[in-house]
Amino acid sequence: MEKTEKPYLLICGAGPTGLLLAMEMQRRGVPYRIVDKKEGPSQHSKALGYWARTLEIFRKTGLDRAVVDAGNPIHAVSSYYQNQKLGEVSLNQINSPYPFGLILPQSDLERLMIQKLEELGGYVEWNTRFKEAKEIENGVEITLSHLGDLEETIRCPYLVGCDGAKSSVREMLHLPFKATPYPDAFVLVDAKFDWPRAEDQLEGHLHPDGALIHFPFGKGRGRILYMRKKGEDPHQLPSVAQVEQVIKERTGEKIVLSDVEWISPFGIHHVVSTAFRKGRTLLCGDAVHVHSPAGGQGANTGMQDAYNLAWRLGLLYHKRADESILDTYEEERMKVAKEVVAFSDQLTKSIEMIGGRTFLPKAVVKLLFRLGLKSLSHSKKLQELFSNKLAEISVNYRGTSGVSETVDEAAPRLSQKLLPGDLVPHLRLPNGEELIDLLDDQQYTLLVFSTKKVEVENVRILVMDPSTKEHFGVTGEAFFLVRPDRYIAYRSNYFLDKLPC
Ligand SMILES: Cc1cc2nc3c(=O)[nH]c(=O)nc-3n(C[C@H](O)[C@H](O)[C@H](O)COP(=O)(O)OP(=O)(O)OC[C@H]3O[C@@H](n4cnc5c(N)ncnc54)[C@H](O)[C@@H]3O)c2cc1C
Repeated sequence: MEKTEKPYLLICGAGPTGLLLAMEMQRRGVPYRIVDKKEGPSQHSKALGYWARTLEIFRKTGLDRAVVDAGNPIHAVSSYYQNQKLGEVSLNQINSPYPFGLILPQSDLERLMIQKLEELGGYVEWNTRFKEAKEIENGVEITLSHLGDLEETIRCPYLVGCDGAKSSVREMLHLPFKATPYPDAFVLVDAKFDWPRAEDQLEGHLHPDGALIHFPFGKGRGRILYMRKKGEDPHQLPSVAQVEQVIKERTGEKIVLSDVEWISPFGIHHVVSTAFRKGRTLLCGDAVHVHSPAGGQGANTGMQDAYNLAWRLGLLYHKRADESILDTYEEERMKVAKEVVAFSDQLTKSIEMIGGRTFLPKAVVKLLFRLGLKSLSHSKKLQELFSNKLAEISVNYRGTSGVSETVDEAAPRLSQKLLPGDLVPHLRLPNGEELIDLLDDQQYTLLVFSTKKVEVENVRILVMDPSTKEHFGVTGEAFFLVRPDRYIAYRSNYFLDKLPC
């Protein structure tokens, strides 16, 4: 295939983060190249949980349907303590067209993303390693190395490092990235399990020797991830019989494993980079944040970094914005990365605590956990909060410098329900359409709550049905300016004939 002659950016790394960015560049008509040092797509399952916000991002290309068809939807997370069911958290409260978690091995997701990229007209350049780069006037000069050490130098305005936790792009920028390890060691097993219960539940088995989690892939296949007993050699691979024994001890179930695809020791740690950008080089995904897999946020957060960057690069390339549009990328995504690390850290520590890693007596720990789970299982509100957090639907950029409002105190009020920096909620309109399908993801959309006529260049205008006012906290006239990534950039109840955009 012909290489893009004048790429606007080079994407280094074709994991989920780089692939998402490439798909979005393709869709937005931005010339790019994407390279990866591997000889082809990854064969390892690695991440396997995809949440509603990611599926919403896939929606515009139709990738959502392919991914949902290939994956196994999870409708609840159940917890057990020493074989006794403690409670269940339903995921049905996720406010999205996808009110579930989706289990799909990362290798399958990447395969579907590559297929979609090719359908859109793009492709990955495999066997192509990023070596080094230097900033030049209005761009970056990048050295790539192809098979047989054949070197190539290219120049383009931007370089985006999506090259994972050991990112060479980040190292080139000399950004510190020292991870803090968790004390526990884990084992990961992908196989066929004759699991006795429904496959639409994720099960967490808490046990004094350590937790064990079962992720069903569907059709009898799945992954178990378990914490090793204290004192065990973290590097030694257990045999299949030993894994079956651990499952028996921690779940009370005699489960037979077959068709074992992957057994791997697994250590976890967390770190967030001190910067996500230096000049014309930007970083996304594991290259800038790594954390515990508890909550399954890793790959999702990386793809959402790429999405946050994609609409900015799209507007910039098409000269609908100036370079300052890139300024808030780091501020917004660093905020999210820190929140994700804190959330997965809390989840990990709760799991560790129940596994005996605490000074509290076991009976007290069990009681605390039971009480916590009981309130979560019985409160719809708490379940809604928790599941929307897991699904990354509640990620917001409130208080960051790229979002704002003008509130006229004399006009009918705007409530605090939906603030600048919030995601426009998933809403079915009276005519049956989904609001998220009407928002423009290539330019801004203005949601108008008024009968006055409004015209603004390069902005899609959407006059909102009055019945939707309550969802936006609007009592009189108002407008909400929505970014291409569906976040509210600006809101006002100020007069509508003088718009700021
Ligand atoms: C064993 C394991 C289990 C995991 N389980 C989970 C889980 O259950 N849930 C979860 O959310 N996350 C999990 N993760 C983490 C998840 O896999 C990552 O968050 C995700 O892969 C990050 O995607 P990425 O695209 O940012 O980086 P990566 O997937 O690491 O992709 C980076 C790409 O860059 C390429 N590259 C690197 N250097 C160069 C270079 N110099 N030149 C060219 N290309 C380069 C690499 O070949 C690679 O293809 C797991 C990870 C592992 C290893």
